[in-house]
Amino acid sequence: MSVLNTAPLPSATILGYPRIGPDRELKRALESYWQDSVQHPATTVLDTLARLRERTTVRLKDLGLDADHAIPSEGSAVDHVLDTALALGAVPARFRADGFSPAAPDTVRGIELITALSRGTDEVEPLELTKWFDTNYHYYVPELDPDTPLHAHPESLVSRYRDTLRRTGVRTRPVLVGPVTLLLLSRPETPADDAAPVDPLARLDDVLAQYVAILSSLAAAGVEWVQLDEPALAADGWSVPRSRIISAVTTAYTRLTSLADHPAVLVTVGYGDAGEDAHLALARTAVDALAVDLDRGDVPGGAALEAWGERPVVGGVVGGRTVWRTDLARAKNTLDRLRAAAHGPVPVGTATPLLHVPHDVTRETELDPDVRSWVAFADQKVTEVVELARGVEQGWEAIAGTLARDAEIRAGRAAHPATHRAAVRERTAAVRSEDRVRASAAERRTAQHERLQLPPLPTTTIGSFPQTAEIRATRAAHRAGRLDGAAYWEAIRSEIARTVRAQEELGLDVLVHGEPERNDMVQYFAEALDGFVTTRHGWVQSYGSRCTRPSILFGDVSRPAPITVDWTRYAASLTERPVKGMLTGPVTILAWSFVRDDVPAAEVADQVALALRDEVADLEEAGTAVIQVDEPALRELLPLRDADRPDYLRWSVDAFRLATGGAATGTQVHTHLCYSEFETVLDAIDALDADVTTLEASRSGSGIVAGLAAADFPRDVGPGVWDIHSPRVPTFQEVVRRVRRAAAALGPDRVWVNPDCGLKTRGWPETEAALDRLVAAAVTVRAEL
Ligand code: GLN
Ligand code: ZN
Repeated sequence: MSVLNTAPLPSATILGYPRIGPDRELKRALESYWQDSVQHPATTVLDTLARLRERTTVRLKDLGLDADHAIPSEGSAVDHVLDTALALGAVPARFRADGFSPAAPDTVRGIELITALSRGTDEVEPLELTKWFDTNYHYYVPELDPDTPLHAHPESLVSRYRDTLRRTGVRTRPVLVGPVTLLLLSRPETPADDAAPVDPLARLDDVLAQYVAILSSLAAAGVEWVQLDEPALAADGWSVPRSRIISAVTTAYTRLTSLADHPAVLVTVGYGDAGEDAHLALARTAVDALAVDLDRGDVPGGAALEAWGERPVVGGVVGGRTVWRTDLARAKNTLDRLRAAAHGPVPVGTATPLLHVPHDVTRETELDPDVRSWVAFADQKVTEVVELARGVEQGWEAIAGTLARDAEIRAGRAAHPATHRAAVRERTAAVRSEDRVRASAAERRTAQHERLQLPPLPTTTIGSFPQTAEIRATRAAHRAGRLDGAAYWEAIRSEIARTVRAQEELGLDVLVHGEPERNDMVQYFAEALDGFVTTRHGWVQSYGSRCTRPSILFGDVSRPAPITVDWTRYAASLTERPVKGMLTGPVTILAWSFVRDDVPAAEVADQVALALRDEVADLEEAGTAVIQVDEPALRELLPLRDADRPDYLRWSVDAFRLATGGAATGTQVHTHLCYSEFETVLDAIDALDADVTTLEASRSGSGIVAGLAAADFPRDVGPGVWDIHSPRVPTFQEVVRRVRRAAAALGPDRVWVNPDCGLKTRGWPETEAALDRLVAAAVTVRAEL
């Protein structure tokens, strides 16, 4: 039964908008509060959120979206998944024991709770952080046990709606993660023993009861449309069979739409194609509208659209994942196909929320004007949605000028010399399969042991050391031309010297130079390679207050000169111990950049790999015995659908092996992965053929170590023993326990001892304290061997 008198969904809408603020206002507010909550109390965060929400709403209206129901009501302080967990009142037992009780997100207590859940406290560990589908956004994993009390907290959803209406006159559309996705993303706080795997859907009824309460409160507050996001439907790989997921969809949406009084429900299934089974299941409920991803997915099938009848299907033709202008001719054809097949209105929308792109490309005044004309950030994408909707409503002639201009820009891009460079194309075409193969792992192991002479359980770090305010200021001054090359070089050298000294004093075995010269592990390489541009304001949220500024890979890639060699050589000159060369791998460079969409990803990856291969050769030439090629994003680009995975894994592994395949037998190649569950890609990690693999592990309990042991992972591994995502210093006992567990499970001759990831977001005091414990733990466990 659908609601009577539902206000129609407008002809243009978006599923979400960047929330960090055009000048990262939210980041600043959060970090000030976290640093000094007396000077900057939680209310300053709440004020910033309210101001940003108002700004966003007004901006979106000015860009042409309707004042009613087209604009999502968002504004999470830290994470929208965490917000939804809070709206359900789900607070894990350890936090309740630590004095935290459920609270709505937009309150002082809510901000305190969000802070504790995402950063941990002195007493308890934070929620796990992991990738949001195949993006570089990370959410906090909700924890639900069979007995975690739930209690709806709709207050903030209501107040956001009312507050925005009062300030702007706009009736926004509250957004929640949908119940099925929320449950699939959750994990138990206290995992059951191996015998009884936990059913993620076990608490469907309890969770639905909270959604019911929330929808009722929203209806009572006058909310007419609500948006429930179910991206999980477009992904495989859950621990329950697809049929159960589909029946959970049926149960959930039947229940949520059979309330006497509820807002109209828009279900979105972005991040790919949800598939006919999901579309049909939703169609058979009384859900009021569906939004589909037509950027990555296809027009739903006839049976599903038949079942939809006259309800609206939002055609998500404007991609929310890349920064390229939408191909408007293609979007027009897709919309025409959907309109021909659908029996009701076809509003135009984005394929996903615009969370993954920056705000506004018109601010990028220093960007090459050609490249800028090819690019669309969030605001430009909103304009595309509005224009396409005008075409749908008034006929395509009405936007003929827009379509012609787009075709012209597209042709200019195709003809631009930087997008086709003969030398690069020829070199990529000449790659042979032997170029991706090194000597046998056993031979390498012997040669490297002889060369490096490391103790068992060798200690190392992942690369970066604290990026102090001073280093940032140094880089900024150099960039702005206020600090000349010589002075800059001196400043960085002294930071490297300090870092090498600190590592020697701490007693680490394999040192790093600390990466003080790098603003970001991808942007640094992008700036040094041809084929990329970087932006000034193009920030996107990565997790919490952390943002990245992805570079734009627009042309053929090559390396005009060595990039890292001088810094590494300098660090090595200061110590007798080995210093690791530190490179970012081809897959991660692609994953964390906005990559051209006019050449297959596999070919772009090989271009980048060849540039890195030359860097590896130059590092070896400079005497470097250990070279780490980071691939933290290997898992991130993994397609959500099983069928798409083999092809991706082939080209991504191939690219890594092309980058490292020229390394000598005696050169120890490390790789590093983080932010993900790796259990499902252990074969691919093995296929990288790295000599040592360091992995993030401390937040996932014993999961990854057990997974590696169960898979008989044949290589040296360093499962992280210090979670570096929060300022908390682990206790010596915790670290020892983790080292022992890894040594016992994997064999002491294969285990490295290292943090979960780089230390650039940490301060020196906690870094020294934690590394001191890490080295002491390695020494203690070595003595037990
Ligand atoms: N070498 C990088 C660093 O230490 C790796 C960062 C990462 O994996 N995200 O900062
Ligand atoms: Zn990492």
